[in-house]
Amino acid sequence: MRIAVIGAGAAGLAALKHCSSGAHDIQVVCYEKTDKIGGTWVYRKEIGLDRYGLPIHTSMYENLRTNLPKEVMGYPDYPVPENPESYLTRTQMLEFLNSYCDHYNLRQYIRFLHNVELVEPSSTGDRKWTVKVKDLEKNVALTESFDAIMVCNGHYFEPSMPNVKGHTSFQGLQLHSHDYRVPDIFTDKSVVVIGAGPSGMDLALDISRKAKRVFLSHHLTDPIGTVFPENVIQKPDVKELTEHNVLFADGTNEPIDAVFYCTGYKYSFPFLSEKCGVRVDSNMVTPLWKHLISIENPSLALVGLPFYVCAFSMFDLQVRFVLQYWFGKRDFPSKEDMLREETEELKKREKEGLRKKHFHLMGYKQHIYYDDLANTAGITPLPPVLSKLHDESSMRFLDDLVHYRERRYRIIDDYNFIQL
Ligand SMILES: Cc1cc2nc3c(=O)[nH]c(=O)nc-3n(C[C@H](O)[C@H](O)[C@H](O)COP(=O)(O)OP(=O)(O)OC[C@H]3O[C@@H](n4cnc5c(N)ncnc54)[C@H](O)[C@@H]3O)c2cc1C
Repeated sequence: MRIAVIGAGAAGLAALKHCSSGAHDIQVVCYEKTDKIGGTWVYRKEIGLDRYGLPIHTSMYENLRTNLPKEVMGYPDYPVPENPESYLTRTQMLEFLNSYCDHYNLRQYIRFLHNVELVEPSSTGDRKWTVKVKDLEKNVALTESFDAIMVCNGHYFEPSMPNVKGHTSFQGLQLHSHDYRVPDIFTDKSVVVIGAGPSGMDLALDISRKAKRVFLSHHLTDPIGTVFPENVIQKPDVKELTEHNVLFADGTNEPIDAVFYCTGYKYSFPFLSEKCGVRVDSNMVTPLWKHLISIENPSLALVGLPFYVCAFSMFDLQVRFVLQYWFGKRDFPSKEDMLREETEELKKREKEGLRKKHFHLMGYKQHIYYDDLANTAGITPLPPVLSKLHDESSMRFLDDLVHYRERRYRIIDDYNFIQL
């Protein structure tokens, strides 16, 4: 079987590792549009377009430290090595991904500086996939044929921008977190941060070291419980921007120099033709079986969509799941059954008050998803301690944003961790 992996970030590397393990008869090729592995963990000072005219993929910023302890950030068979700290820097995480890549000899399968431009079912009806790729260095277009595709292109690169009233009149700086690199751009400025998800809170903290005042605007019904630095002030939704001011929903009005949009990202698969049978509907990627496999064309898998997860371990589990089905160890349910399962999950989530855009959110229920994948495919499950420690870290993040990264943990068995 010829398999194409699109992207050499943490998900693409997991895909490559299992496709090249020798357990299955696979010829694998990974296309990576940049010249490095690691995806979003590769820090680049530039923003906008790269020298090939492609949008810069990474959203990494200089001061980032992980928001999860390293104990839950490794792969099942390749943990993050010993280190006195639990919360690592971006550089340490990128080193880890490079060591994983080298340990399993994965670089030989990666075609760097190859941008996938189009994926579509082959027109001859032979159940194969046509992949059009641009070799960026040679500026040459290539067309290749594959039996199956693993899409691993990430989902933190296409900014989601709200339509804030007055944003065209505002005279100051407006920036999305995708283009944020260093806090110095906000030195001595009054900044309104729109969005208080984990990244908005973290970024409000990061820029508070340089900014004069940071207004953290959100629509959470209760104020965020954590203690922020003194210059971070919580505010409700932004009602309107004027040339130099922001008006909030509670009627207060503040002069500001910058608007910092921490409003998240949209799923985007610009290279998937409509014929692939996967679309993004209100930020839900559909129709998919188990957030992973195209129901219309099951030889197409989209690895890594769920968020608020133990990402690298989940990627590994998803890839093992997919290979069980592609290699006939398990049979796919009927199309009707897969569609019904997806519809039922959507209804269940809607009853819990979640919107379509939260369809791939796992969070405190991630262990249910992991167990379902493992039980359904008959593969080794993820140890429950991962989800438990993820929950612990998320709680500490919410109640002690400034200091939670000082904590250190150790996993002692599949079920338990201790705080050191
Ligand atoms: C600022 C930030 C901080 C984060 N912090 C954490 C954290 O602390 N802990 C955590 O677990 N997770 C964190 N994450 C989530 C992180 O995205 C995942 O952990 C994980 O690295 C995602 O891996 P991925 O392979 O799915 O995607 P990516 O890392 O985005 O990799 C996708 C790859 O695909 C390539 N690609 C895309 N399109 C094409 C194409 N058309 N052709 C060829 N190649 C293509 C890209 O160049 C890239 O290399 C963070 C994310 C961001 C943005």
